[in-house]
Amino acid sequence: METISGAGRFAPSPSGELHLGNLRTAILAWLFARSTGRQFLLRIEDLDTARAGAEEAQIRELSDLGLDWDLPPIRQSEHLPRYEASIASLVEAGLLYECFCTRRDIAEAATAPHALPGVYPGTCRNLTESQRELRRRERPPALRLRAGVEALTIQDRLHGEYTGPVDDFVVRRNDGVPAYNLAVVVDDAAQGIDQVVRGGDLLSSAPRQAYLAGLLGVPAPLYAHVPLALGKDGRRLAKRDGSVTLEALGAEGLPVEAVRAIILKSMDLPAGPLSAVLEVFDPDLLPRDPWIVEPSLFSPTGMRSVTRNR
Ligand code: GLU
Repeated sequence: METISGAGRFAPSPSGELHLGNLRTAILAWLFARSTGRQFLLRIEDLDTARAGAEEAQIRELSDLGLDWDLPPIRQSEHLPRYEASIASLVEAGLLYECFCTRRDIAEAATAPHALPGVYPGTCRNLTESQRELRRRERPPALRLRAGVEALTIQDRLHGEYTGPVDDFVVRRNDGVPAYNLAVVVDDAAQGIDQVVRGGDLLSSAPRQAYLAGLLGVPAPLYAHVPLALGKDGRRLAKRDGSVTLEALGAEGLPVEAVRAIILKSMDLPAGPLSAVLEVFDPDLLPRDPWIVEPSLFSPTGMRSVTRNR
């Protein structure tokens, strides 16, 4: 039997319904993991506001699509102590500082000459203890990492070498909630995940996360950032694009198998159960451009072209 080592995962935020882009990423994460003999895990990223019922619906839909996972899904909200333990180890190492900036402070700093877009300019990095003391009376601080580099290069299965900024990013928000960039690194390590397949919008976060993994003494995973699904206006897929969820398409008479076939066709993969798709899955053959979701894909003519290629 093939030795299974490592795991891949899909980590949805239960803030709403999964749209075609999320479903496509989930299928890809499953195919990447299973085609490399890895386990596949689900993690519900519910540190931000979760919408009632969203988690159950997401899990049901992923299962309806044919995904399976090796352990019960975990919820981030149930693992707060492990984020706090990592934050404590970073505090101990003198790697964090308190930041009192409001969103507005950061937006204003971003307009300064030489400011790099999306990069924290270090406003609170060198406050003195007495300045901090005063600022603490105004608002609770967020905790930021004192980054020792400005950029890092990671390897991505689809993008090759990718270099992106590593700034003093937030690890604990000022409401006390662990920040996404910290939680994702801590969880991937704790769950034995060594393969991260997710939407291309997160590629620019990977250098920060890989850097943090190094500081926490855990290995950075292998990355594959997959193309996003876009509406025909070129913006990220959303409700305005019409029926883009399993539920909405189902209400229009499209069964889950048909939606799966459309998603697979968008990647030049054959329709059918995922176990069969696994036989022909090759990351090198995946399209590298975003998937433009045209409503005509779901019309009877669009559907005929899917079934014809079956
Ligand atoms: N929870 C994130 C999202 O739904 C994904 C995070 C990740 O895959 O690292 O966009």
